[in-house]
Amino acid sequence: MATSSKTHKMIRKMVRELCRDKIAELAKEADKTKVYPQALHEVFVDAGLFVIRVPEAYGGVEMDYTSSVIVVEELARVDGTCANTVAHHHAGLCSFMKGANPAQKDRYLPKIGKGDYMVGFALTEPNAGSDAFSLQTTATLEGEDYILNGNKCFVSNSGLTDLYVVFSTLNPELRRDGITAFLVERDTPGFTVGKAESKMGFRASPTCELVFDNVRVSKENLLGEAGKGWQLVHQSLTETRVMVAAMGLGMAQGAMEAAVAYAKDREQFGTSIINFQGISFMLADMAIQVELARALVYNIAEKVDRGEKNLHYYASIAKCAASDIAMKVTTDAVQVLGGYGYTEDYPVEKLMRDAKATQIIEGTNQVQRIQIARQLSKIY
Ligand SMILES: Cc1cc2nc3c(=O)[nH]c(=O)nc-3n(C[C@H](O)[C@H](O)[C@H](O)COP(=O)(O)OP(=O)(O)OC[C@H]3O[C@@H](n4cnc5c(N)ncnc54)[C@H](O)[C@@H]3O)c2cc1C
Repeated sequence: MATSSKTHKMIRKMVRELCRDKIAELAKEADKTKVYPQALHEVFVDAGLFVIRVPEAYGGVEMDYTSSVIVVEELARVDGTCANTVAHHHAGLCSFMKGANPAQKDRYLPKIGKGDYMVGFALTEPNAGSDAFSLQTTATLEGEDYILNGNKCFVSNSGLTDLYVVFSTLNPELRRDGITAFLVERDTPGFTVGKAESKMGFRASPTCELVFDNVRVSKENLLGEAGKGWQLVHQSLTETRVMVAAMGLGMAQGAMEAAVAYAKDREQFGTSIINFQGISFMLADMAIQVELARALVYNIAEKVDRGEKNLHYYASIAKCAASDIAMKVTTDAVQVLGGYGYTEDYPVEKLMRDAKATQIIEGTNQVQRIQIARQLSKIY
């Protein structure tokens, strides 16, 4: 669906004000405690951030893809945990919307539409990260049910999530053609949330192991077709990679703004440090990279909205470029702030820690380059 640029401006303003008034302080504290606070969750729920792109008939807010990218960018401008929480809910939701049959939509969309029901995306396993065809979580048909056994790891929003989209395999030897997605509710017997990672960034976003010990799910919980789960992964990653690109853009923007403000204010040798060419050129390079990332991210978000061809290729380009830019700009921002940049008194060290995750999540940047290179020869 198309959304006018007036609406886009309104959404940006709304989320920016929300970040300033209600999110920034809570998020800063949560980064220190490494706990996702209920108060922050309630801000997201009240603002409807978990029902973006859910059909209005079910209580959602139907908006175009570009709008959801704006939301993630604005959240990331102040905090990675917040952006990751919303973006990974949308990763699960995206797989659900693409794979669910009418009965599954009738069953779950009314709950999701209430705004507090979260969906998770569980693909990664201890021995299957970049090599996702090597999944070892098995799904064995037994009568009318499937029995799931295995472990997932690094799953964002673990514990907070109500419904997990779990990618398993019917037979590990089938690799891609064995991958099958299931809907697993949080209280399903045999399913537990395991060890939580203690992380460099996104510190208040729970990233945990999921354990499946003879988890019995009905055939009705099969999402999409048996053996066709990879299509769902592929389609979902196309969308969520652009969201990760938006995270990178937001972090770079936030770091650049902090660096400019500090450079104008801080005096050394009798003048503001922004007057030193060494600093001003760093700031100019930050601005160039931020605007490059912005042009790229929104160009590709609009391609997603228009349903253009080769979206996977463009999504990898956006993800790779914007996350590399985020890492460079946030690192340089710490440098501009000198010793103070290295302290928790200023926001740039957190943005730098958060930015590192954007080069890894939704497929590492090495994997993006492999995919871009493979598709290049098909496209040109
Ligand atoms: C904060 C966070 C949140 C996450 N959230 C989720 C989530 O919600 N759901 C989910 O399913 N997963 C999630 N992940 C997992 C993430 O998608 C994986 O970490 C990522 O895909 C990389 O897998 P890996 O960590 O096993 O690294 P590996 O695949 O082991 O890679 C290790 C290194 O080898 C490189 N490498 C691997 N293969 C190649 C190759 N062929 N050529 C060149 N280099 C290669 C990689 O680029 C990397 O540098 C999350 C991860 C983090 C850190």
